[in-house]
This record gives sequence, structure tokens and C-alpha cells, in this order.
Amino acid sequence: MPDDGAAPASPEVAALRAAILDKLIYQVGGRDERASPRDWFLAATLAVRDRIMDRWRAANDLSAAEHHRQVCYLSMEFLIGRLLSDALGNLGLTETMREALSGLGVELEEIYAQEPDAALGNGGLGRLAACFMDSMASLSIPAFGYGIRYEHGLFRQLIQDGRQREVPEDWLSLGNPWEFERANIVCDVGFGGHVAPRAEGGVAWHPGEVVRAIAYDTPVVGWGGKWVNTLRLWSARATDPLQLDAFNSGDHIGAQLNRVRAEAISRVLYPGDESPAGQELRLRQEYFFASASLQDMIRRHKRLHGEVTTLAEKNAVQLNDTHPAIGVAELMRLLIDVHGLEWDEAWRIGIATFSYTNHTLMPEALESWPVALMERLLPRNMQIIYLINAQHLEAARQAGANDGMLEAISIINEHAGRRVRMGHLAFVGSHKVNGVSALHTGLMKTTVFAELDRACPGRITNKTNGITFRRWLQRANPGLTKLITDSIGPRFLDDPEHLAELAPLAHDAAFREAFEAQRLAAKRRLAEVVRARIGVAVDPQALFDVQIKRIHEYKRQLLNILQTIALYNAMRAQPMSRWTPRVKIFAGKAAPSYHQAKLIIRLANDVARVVNNDPTLHGLLKVAFLPNYNVTLAESIIPAADLSEQISTAGLEASGTGNMKFALNGALTIGTLDGANVEISERVGLDNIFIFGLKADAAGAMRRDGFDARAAVAASPELQGVLDSLMGGVFSPEEPDRYRGLVEGLLAHDSFLVTADFDSYQRSQRQVAERWRQPDDWWRSAVLNTANVAWFSSDRTIRDYAEEIWKLPVR
Ligand SMILES: *Cc1c(COP(=O)(O)O)cnc(C)c1O
Repeated sequence: MPDDGAAPASPEVAALRAAILDKLIYQVGGRDERASPRDWFLAATLAVRDRIMDRWRAANDLSAAEHHRQVCYLSMEFLIGRLLSDALGNLGLTETMREALSGLGVELEEIYAQEPDAALGNGGLGRLAACFMDSMASLSIPAFGYGIRYEHGLFRQLIQDGRQREVPEDWLSLGNPWEFERANIVCDVGFGGHVAPRAEGGVAWHPGEVVRAIAYDTPVVGWGGKWVNTLRLWSARATDPLQLDAFNSGDHIGAQLNRVRAEAISRVLYPGDESPAGQELRLRQEYFFASASLQDMIRRHKRLHGEVTTLAEKNAVQLNDTHPAIGVAELMRLLIDVHGLEWDEAWRIGIATFSYTNHTLMPEALESWPVALMERLLPRNMQIIYLINAQHLEAARQAGANDGMLEAISIINEHAGRRVRMGHLAFVGSHKVNGVSALHTGLMKTTVFAELDRACPGRITNKTNGITFRRWLQRANPGLTKLITDSIGPRFLDDPEHLAELAPLAHDAAFREAFEAQRLAAKRRLAEVVRARIGVAVDPQALFDVQIKRIHEYKRQLLNILQTIALYNAMRAQPMSRWTPRVKIFAGKAAPSYHQAKLIIRLANDVARVVNNDPTLHGLLKVAFLPNYNVTLAESIIPAADLSEQISTAGLEASGTGNMKFALNGALTIGTLDGANVEISERVGLDNIFIFGLKADAAGAMRRDGFDARAAVAASPELQGVLDSLMGGVFSPEEPDRYRGLVEGLLAHDSFLVTADFDSYQRSQRQVAERWRQPDDWWRSAVLNTANVAWFSSDRTIRDYAEEIWKLPVR
């Protein structure tokens, strides 16, 4: 053994080391003297996986009597990132693994880096699903996460000549040691065809195409390793055989066309939906995973409990946004057409089973499907939607609804070319509908769902989002975690409310210094990443000012870039002033067809190029756009952030969860009173956060009534100067007009109120710089952020769902 005479390993370390070697030889097929880091990653993961299996089997083998109620969390996205460090941390095996590997001459961090980042999601909604899976397992709540096993997750972002380029992401290309292919767990999902009466009564759907869903299971182990749930992702497999005659006669491609079409369903996350074919594929994905998941739930239920009539007592289905909302009609179809229930009983079961989480109020983001497409692709489901709607409208009519009200609550939008409103379908088919922050839930009741709320009072409830502290503090920031543990003991790891014990330490200079030292260490590491990735040198002593999230106009990266330009102009105009050294850090992907968002990425990179190469600044301002934002990158940036930018147009960010990750790690927030920022500000206190800008009601009114951006610019010499630099081509000398359209658009219709909030934001940023120059004040506020955000643990969120929506016991 290559242990070089070191102290003998403990029995656990020796056993794990032997298991890893065993896996390396017998499963990876490697040899230890020649194994690559990738081989070691596979062997280590397989060894860890074995340690999860017994508990996983136990969780799956509950008897009917032990089986209370189980959650089925249906989500089109699971943004899980890497799993190995999570599993080791939750099992309490991190140090054992470190020792086991070091005896083999392998470093744990190097092994972590081998794992691809599973990006089966786009942003916050998918990350929420991943945090919820961790919390449900940690609270021993029996749950299945159901989604799609995309072969290609969210694209990999390259920045070339300052512009985003998308290349396919390939997380499965070298195999996935976490998953189990369940060849025996398959569900057939139909599309197209026609509906015909059945001799014995009722109707039968004769699909024109059948696609097979195959389950791939990944264990999700909770904190302390006490409970293990399943993430079950469906992969599409063609049922059409290869057309051998055609193939043999030379038509190699035509012979496989139907198979290719079927298997396209699980090929990529978010296929472009600009074309009708893209839209159809998206609807096929939604129905595919909703149908397979509900079929699977019913099958498991019947195996355990015999009768389908008790389905709702034993299962709670949470719809994560409207992507699985077609499930409301699909469950009716399954219960009536396949399991022989009457309409009323099926409806009672459906309502009691489903609940729905809304994630956005923006009209353009509310899903709807053309009735004609639904009729062609899902004829039986469309019939059922009509029946649901007729019953729903009749009930409202009897309760006295007038025509305007009926039009507003109808599942069918008769105006925009007849479309099915998926949010309405989910609302009508659920017993609870939740928003994701207090502000968002309030707005739900006064905007999109105002009439439905009146028709179905009491259905809307709030469940403010949360994050798992295990990933976003313990794993992402081990240095800070150790400092906290050394200071207040390890109880906060089990119950984050104990973080409040840090509050008195905010007034202890030695603790503040230790807290700052942890930040500095994280900033040094990040500075190294920045240098390695984009070749920009940044000073770890500078204020790290960070905005990382999907690039979207409502999130207002543009506001931040304009402020960066204003700062740049001011530094050049007054070089002798005392400037706070700052590094502006951006990361985020734009949807491939979202031109404005891509232009904003280009602007960030153009500004970075000019600012970073201007010697007159003496490095006091740097701008870094880090490519390919994902969970892994977030884990390295967040512990190094001093300032967290949460600056969306008020009323448009439903909750945000990035805001929580930063505050937990002690960054101060600069933000609008939007989404969960409102609740964060209430908890950390207004002295420890920088709030600026229009509030949601005023912003809503201005967006509705329009406002004069030209007047706002005319009143702000600083902003005028920024726009002049842009128009003058200061940041795009090779193409001076590159940002002319952007500026003109801002002046003509500033839908996201960038110009309206600019001055207020700029004032707030000056306060940030002043606070930074008072280190005692800054670090006191930083500690108080960490101390006061325990409530944003996703364990709290999940407890609230369990008690108030799913009605199940939390152990
Ligand atoms: C947390 C997280 C998000 C959500 O960030 P917001 O700032 O709330 O939009 C998106 N992507 C990744 C990778 C995340 O970790």
C-alpha cells in the first residue's frame, strides 16, 4: 500500500480505501498505478453510492402501514450541479474520503473537479427543485423528484470577441456513476391519433404515436444520511422498430426518422421555441414527463395500497410552475379512461392531489398553448380540459359571476387565437396555489389570479423560497463554516436558527477580523479563477461587487453596467479623488434567441475591455464577465462576494434565491424592494442592506401608464454622460454605432425603468463605497447578515409546504 509509513488508517478509512480500489479494478476496469483522475472519481463515487444503497432500499421498502403520504415533485428542471461533495457531506464522510484518497496519492478536491456539473435547468426554478430535494431527504419526507433526463442540459456558454456563443453541454458523455437505469420501470406515452367511443361506454384514445419513458434513478441522501429519496428522470425511447426493409434498401436515415423524432423529446433542455416545430417539441416534453410520472405514481400506489381511490390520501403532487400543468388533465384521463372512475370522483382526487407553485407574473412568461396544437397532439386531454373548464365556469356562473369575470377565469383564452392558459388549468386543478415570496403572493392576488382568487377564495398561499445551507454554506464555504463552528458550536448545522447566536459576535472586533479573513481567502481563490479563465488581474483587497444570474432585462444587468460606466467616467474626470477600489463581477447566460440579453452580455464585455486596459485608473476599477455561469461557478463566486446585486425592477422578481445565498455568506445586498429582498431586509435590518429605487406599486403604475425616460435622463447629468459615452462609441470604437439602438430603445420605451431608478441606485452605490471605507461598520453588517437569515433555509420552506399544503407529518 502506498501509505509510506504514515500512521495506520482508521478502520473506516481503510474500508473505504479498499472499496475504492475494488471499484477501480472491477467496475471502472482500471489499474491504480495508471488510473486517471476521472477513473478515481468514478471509483470513489461508486464506493460512496454503495454506502447509500441500504438506506435507499429501506426508504423504498416501507410497508403500506408505514406509508403516510408521499410527495411527487414534478419539475421540468433540476439544476443539481455536482453531487459527490453533497453526498459525502450529508453522509459525514468527507474527511474519511479525503484520507482514503490521500493514502492512494489522490487529492479529494481534484476528484471533485472531475464531476460534470449537471445543468438540467436554466436558473432559479431548477435550483429550487434541487434545494427542495435535499431538504425533503434531510427532513425524512418520502419524496420522488420527477423530471426529464436531458442528454444535453443547458448549453455551455463561450464568450468569443465579447459575445455569447452556445455549444452543447455533454454531461453524460463519460457516463454518470450516480444513476441507475431502470429497464423495468417504463411507461408508454401517446401522442396524436384520435378519440373514439368505446362499445362498453366511455371513450378510447388511439394515439398515432407511442413513446416509451424509461426511468433513471438517482439517490438523494439527506443530512446525516438518515433518509434517501429518489430523483427519477425519464428518458425517451422510440417504440417504432427500425424499418429494416428501408434500411437494407439503402435509406439509412429515412428508416430511423420516427425513432429520431421520438427520442428528440429528451435530447435537449429548452429546445428553441421560435419555430412551430420547437413549440411542439416543448409541449411533447411537458406531456411526456407529466404523463410518465403520474402513471408511475399510480402504479406504485396500487402496488402498495391496492385501490386507486385512495390516491390523494397517499400522494401529494407539487407542480413546479406550469410546465407539468397538463398533468391536471392527464390524471383525469388516467383515472377515468384507464382506471374506470367516474368524473366526479376523479376530480375530487385530482384537486386533493395537486398543488401548484407559480414563479412569474410577467404576461410573456405565462405559458399558454394553441388549442389547435393541443387538439392535434393531445386530443383526449383537450376534451378533458374543455370539460374541466365547462364545470369550472358553470360553478362560477351559479355563484353570480358576470361575463367579464367568466372571461377572466376561463382556462381558454378566446382572444389571442384561442389558447389554453396553463396557469389557469393548474390553478383550477389544485387545492393550493402558492407564490414564492410575500410580495409575489400579494401581487398574484391583485394581478394574474385576481379573478380566480375571488372565484376560489383561500386557495392562494405564500411559501417564501429557501436554499439548502448544506450546499450554499457548508460545502461552498468550508472556511466560514469552520469559523462559525469554532465560535458557536456545530448545532447550526442541524438547525440553522442557531446562526442567530452569531449576532453578539458582530460587535466583537476579533471575530469580525476572522470573518473578514475568511472572505479575503475566498477572494484570493476567486481572483485566481478570474485570472485563469479570462486573464484579468484583480486585487483581492478591492470591493467585490457581484451580479450573477440569468441575463434578463428585468434583472437589470444593464443598470449595473450603466453605473459601472458612470463610475468609470467619474474616475477619469477626477483622478485625484479617493476612490474605493472595486471589481465588478458578472456571470450569466442569455437564452439563445434573446437578442437584447445577448447585447447586454456584449456590452458588459466591451466595457470590461476598455476599463481593464485603461492605465489612468491604476487598477481601481476592474470588470470581469466570467463565462458559463452554473452551480459550480456560483459556489466559487458567492463566498468571495462583498456586495450582492439584486436590482430587478420591483414587482418582477418573484423571489430570487441568489439573494439568499449571498446574504447567508455575509455579503451585503444592494437591491430593490422586490421578491424575497423585502423579507431579507426585514430580517437583516435596514442598517445592514442598501435598498434603493421604486417600489413595486409605483413601478407597476409607471410600467402601465408609461413614463418619460428622456425627462429622467435630462434630469441626470451623470446618466446623460453615460449614454453619451455609449453613443460616442467609447466602448465599441471599431463599431461606434453598436449601442445606438440600445440607447434609443431605452429613451423610447424603458420598460424596466432603468433610467427611472438610475440616480437612486447611484446614490446607494456611493453609500456602499462609504461603508466600505468604515471596515468596522461593514463587517458588523456582514456578520449580521449571516446571523439573521436562518429563516431562508429551504428546510423551513419545506416544513411549511409539508404542514400547510401536503398535510404530512414532519419527523
Ligand atoms: C441560485 C441560482 C440561480 C438563481 O439566482 P437568482 O439570482 O435568484 O436569479 C440561478 N442559477 C444558478 C446556477 C444558481 O445557483
